[in-house]
Amino acid sequence: MKTHEYDVVIVGSGPAGAAYARTLHEEAPQLRVLMVEAGPSLSKPPGLHVKNLPDPQARAAAQLASQGPVTSLSPESPVPGPGRPGTFLLRPDELAPLAGMPAAAMSSNVGGMGAHWTCACPRPGASERISFLDDGTLDAALGEAERLLSVTSEAFADAPFSGDVRERLEHAFHRTGAAAIQPMPLAVRKHPDGTITWSGTDVVMGPLAEPTTRGDFFELRDQTLCQRVMLDAGHVTGVELKDLATGTVTKVHAPAVVVAADALRTPQLLFASGVRPRALGRYLNDQPQVISAVRLPADVVQSRDGEAGAGEATAGAAVHSGVSWVPYTDEEPFHGQVMQLDASPVPLAEDDPVVPGSVIGLGWFCATETVEENRVEFDDTSLDHYGMPRMTINYNLTWKDLRVIEQAKEAVTRAGKVLGTFLDDRPPFLLPAGSSLHYQGSVRMGQYDDGRSVCGPDSQVWGTEGLYVAGNGVIPTSTACNPTLTSVALAVIGARAIARSMK
Ligand SMILES: Cc1cc2nc3c(=O)[nH]c(=O)nc-3n(C[C@H](O)[C@H](O)[C@H](O)COP(=O)(O)OP(=O)(O)OC[C@H]3O[C@@H](n4cnc5c(N)ncnc54)[C@H](O)[C@@H]3O)c2cc1C
Repeated sequence: MKTHEYDVVIVGSGPAGAAYARTLHEEAPQLRVLMVEAGPSLSKPPGLHVKNLPDPQARAAAQLASQGPVTSLSPESPVPGPGRPGTFLLRPDELAPLAGMPAAAMSSNVGGMGAHWTCACPRPGASERISFLDDGTLDAALGEAERLLSVTSEAFADAPFSGDVRERLEHAFHRTGAAAIQPMPLAVRKHPDGTITWSGTDVVMGPLAEPTTRGDFFELRDQTLCQRVMLDAGHVTGVELKDLATGTVTKVHAPAVVVAADALRTPQLLFASGVRPRALGRYLNDQPQVISAVRLPADVVQSRDGEAGAGEATAGAAVHSGVSWVPYTDEEPFHGQVMQLDASPVPLAEDDPVVPGSVIGLGWFCATETVEENRVEFDDTSLDHYGMPRMTINYNLTWKDLRVIEQAKEAVTRAGKVLGTFLDDRPPFLLPAGSSLHYQGSVRMGQYDDGRSVCGPDSQVWGTEGLYVAGNGVIPTSTACNPTLTSVALAVIGARAIARSMK
């Protein structure tokens, strides 16, 4: 085995890991940082959002390459069920028979799910916020996360029909202040020629994405699995890595390790390393997703048809698409992502072309209770495709969750009725558990080490010096808002703590 020295090792190259790397670079450029990623690099620069790849075939190949050691969407796949390009599902035997998350998915590639995401970045509101972080700290970190992800509400604010959509939603929801109907904040850049670049982790990494500008500070190794974090008497000493191309195992010594390996595989790596606090994998929560689709009334579409034709399709996306937001409130504990589509999700008559922006996808994400029994568990005696402890998900909705889902269905119906005509006869319906791709709580943050959390407010694992956890699993509250912005904000706080401790 070879031995190397770094100051910080980051496991996982998604938005959370990338935020650690970038913040450490800005706060403590003297450190040497190694990032390891189990999946392959898809692009140059690494971490590019696949929607920015202009060639559809290259995009499809990048999505397939992200789908883990067994690509769940390939025809030979042994893993049936729903799945989204760029993600892969758990094996059926990894789901508890009566309770589970059949749509729980992961991505394995440089950039993680951050190379495939929709880029919606709402801030948490009301009780979604983490009460033991003071407002100033949380808001400053959210602002920093918006800078790293390049978040704007302006990119599609004036897209055709967007004003009509928001006006109609206002009639249905009567919202004011922070909870008012508004353009969805998105991690995108709109260029002067009207084209769009979606933020992947190359954007978060900034100068670190380019070998010429990263200097000696940073090294990225793809196809490298971290199989164990090494510890000695409660202190991190480094990591054990496996080069997945050659099978070579290497030990890397470092006094700080950040595990940013998604909400399912972060607790898996801690478990594999013998770090097994009571809350590990517990309090797992997903955001049940209720969906439907509607079409704006013909008179509205005809009156604006000329405007809608003005946009130009760009790489994998069209500039027509507006995204509006119905924010979370404690009275209505869900949030609505209202996406104007350029094509219909259900077949329409051939002589009935879709005017871009006039068909609207309604996706409502619900907050669920954080329940200790909902958990991802690991087994020492049985291994997954990567040779890591096999996981099983036990997950049930509570009666309160079921009530919130019914309330969300009613809200989607209300939204659909004011927006136009539903596209099919089916009432708004709930997607299978796990479809949100927003899994939280599995390595949750807490104010005190009281057995109900895995890490403290700076994301350092209780009682384990130098071991930090990152990603959506850290979020301790019951949230409905898309979680990446919050995870990146918590990563900024954690990275600053590491930088301070190493000065
Ligand atoms: C289609 C889609 C749409 C989405 N839309 C949104 C949205 O609009 N808004 C939003 O907020 N979120 C959205 N998400 C979710 C969002 O992408 C995730 O919240 C975000 O990527 C999580 O970042 P992360 O860094 O914690 O984990 P990930 O991005 O999942 O990255 C974790 C990485 O760790 C690697 N890894 C795991 N284990 C190991 C190991 N042992 N050794 C080495 N590497 C390892 C994995 O291969 C992976 O690449 C979406 C996701 C998808 C797929």
